Amino acid sequence: MSGQDYEAPSGAFSQRDDVAASSGTMIYRCGDCAVRVPLEKGAPIRCQKCGARVLYKERTRRMVQFEAR
Ligand SMILES: [Zn+2]
Repeated sequence: MSGQDYEAPSGAFSQRDDVAASSGTMIYRCGDCAVRVPLEKGAPIRCQKCGARVLYKERTRRMVQFEAR
């Protein structure tokens, strides 16, 4: 391939400073100090406060109701 025709979009995207909580960010809870740790996808699982590596997933959505039969 010769020549990279990569046009930088001007004004197409508006980057925001606070990009989080919506795409790729999961909320974990530390198993040691129980602090909420927001981690991006691919980020190392580690508490940002105490440095513990034991984090539990915190579900942002409501838990699924179990079918009582
Ligand atoms: Zn912790």
